[in-house]
Amino acid sequence: MHTIVIGGGVIGLTQAYHLAREGEQVTLVDSRATGLGASEVNAGWIVPAEAAPVPGPGVVLQSMKWMLRPDSPLYIRPSLDPEFVKFMLGMWGKSNRSAQRAGFDGHLRLAQDTVEIFDEYQAEGIDFEMHSAGLLMAFTQQEILEHHVGNLDLPASYGLDPQVLLGDDVRNHEPLLSDVIRGGIYYPKERHVDPGALCRALHTKLIELGVQILENAPLQAVSHSGEKIHSITAGGRTLSADHYVLAAGAWTGKLSKLFGTALPVRPGKGYSVEVDPLPLRSATNLWDAKVAITPFESRLRIAGTMEFGGLDEDINQVRVDAILRAPGKYLRGFTVPKGKVEAKAGMRPMTPDGMPIMGKLPKLENGYVSTGHGMLGVTLAPASAEAMTQLIRTGTRQPKLNIFDPARFARSH
Ligand SMILES: Cc1cc2nc3c(=O)[nH]c(=O)nc-3n(C[C@H](O)[C@H](O)[C@H](O)COP(=O)(O)OP(=O)(O)OC[C@H]3O[C@@H](n4cnc5c(N)ncnc54)[C@H](O)[C@@H]3O)c2cc1C
Repeated sequence: MHTIVIGGGVIGLTQAYHLAREGEQVTLVDSRATGLGASEVNAGWIVPAEAAPVPGPGVVLQSMKWMLRPDSPLYIRPSLDPEFVKFMLGMWGKSNRSAQRAGFDGHLRLAQDTVEIFDEYQAEGIDFEMHSAGLLMAFTQQEILEHHVGNLDLPASYGLDPQVLLGDDVRNHEPLLSDVIRGGIYYPKERHVDPGALCRALHTKLIELGVQILENAPLQAVSHSGEKIHSITAGGRTLSADHYVLAAGAWTGKLSKLFGTALPVRPGKGYSVEVDPLPLRSATNLWDAKVAITPFESRLRIAGTMEFGGLDEDINQVRVDAILRAPGKYLRGFTVPKGKVEAKAGMRPMTPDGMPIMGKLPKLENGYVSTGHGMLGVTLAPASAEAMTQLIRTGTRQPKLNIFDPARFARSH
């Protein structure tokens, strides 16, 4: 069987790999080189324990307050575009505790094997930097820490073993934290990877396995009659296969219309910068600043912001400067580098309910979608690819995929 995967970010690359390692013929097409944008610039955390969907209690109110600040970690560009209004109303509707817990549980169930699959990748010769040092959430406010502690039952029930560190215990754990930090939660089983290296290594492995990778080949048209897709046109070439998987990240909203369905996927832009390394024990979430710190072997990555705006990777220097300044307050020994630091942008594929969209595309017998992984694309990629591979090869949908069914948004176009 031959499958064409459209989009070579971490979701498309892992999808292509899981199909190819089962012996399937695979073609991967991307509008540019693979592994750029969000899949390159992200913080690289593999964090099922922090996988609550974005919409939650208080999120809408907090976003409105932040909209007034040019350097805030979250920005929503106001628009009267009906698709945007519908998306935001959908998000509002899901901003409650029960929807957020159901979504968190769905992510946790999907991600149960994710760490093991990352180990399999390395055992199978996919060579990338990975650390098993856990994740620390650091808080300056006692009440916010307590709020998080009140929700630890879910990750604990999946064996993720959260450890609450009060007062100076958090500094004993991570001596680089300054005195403004009042406590933390440490998840010992979480990991982090260099996401750019992961994508490059997957690309290399795909070539080794004989996958045809077509770069600079944007999807332009989809030819289908009735329920069957016959071919696609990408980069001026017509390509035919048995199955087609749309995995084009934030662009999927636009491209899904070519498949007869308008899926509500919108970009949530973020940035990262890299500075000289600090001897930080593990990946660290500076909760108050909404900034992610990732210690790689030879550099420190700082990532943050969520901007709901256009489909572009333009850089807003005011927000980048805010990300760069943030660690200074929380981490001893951190100084903002002198001179210009190169920032990179990427767009998270966001959905109104904060959940991925994975499964068969409505009204098509050989069209599939895997997108909407939002802030969790690296965390969920291997498990998503595995479950989708089973669906594509055998037609069997594992129950853990049900919650992500594209049909929940289906409307014809
Ligand atoms: C600042 C930041 C920090 C993050 N931190 C983390 C983290 O720590 N952990 C985590 O799990 N997640 C994190 N994420 C989220 C994660 O990066 C995304 O969820 C993930 O990259 C989405 O992958 P994707 O493959 O769906 O999309 P993308 O990486 O955007 O890939 C989509 C691909 O589709 C291609 N494409 C677009 N249009 C077309 C077309 N017409 N034809 C063919 N191809 C096309 C694009 O070129 C691209 O290669 C973060 C994101 C950001 C921005």
